[in-house]
Amino acid sequence: MKIAFVAHDKKKDDIVDFVKRYEDVFKNHEIFATGTTGKLINEIVGLKVHRFLSGPMGGDQEIGARVAEGKMDFVIFLRDPLTSQPHEPDISALLRICDVHCIPLATNLGSAEVFAKALKNHK
Ligand code: PGA
Repeated sequence: MKIAFVAHDKKKDDIVDFVKRYEDVFKNHEIFATGTTGKLINEIVGLKVHRFLSGPMGGDQEIGARVAEGKMDFVIFLRDPLTSQPHEPDISALLRICDVHCIPLATNLGSAEVFAKALKNHK
């Protein structure tokens, strides 16, 4: 499966901890991420990551394009709901395009956990 990760700055520690905890699961899948999120997952957890641009520079849109083309199976997007983001329109567009194409989207750790558990049984 092709899985995209995005984490806003205040959620970076959370996403690294999360991927570390489920490393055994994610290592069997193709991992994509926005720039900094991908760099951290690669450097700290050691998984191979295809990195897009940083979110504010267009990375969310690149992931959205993959979703629209049917080239992304899951999106795990740990949003920071308490801080306004300069690229809010890009964020909304990514959430929307996942809904348009019925692509599973986790926007917080609770739903991300459910995804990871479901993926355990899916190579
Ligand atoms: P980043 O982008 O992974 O490059 O930080 C995510 C974001 O903050 O939108």
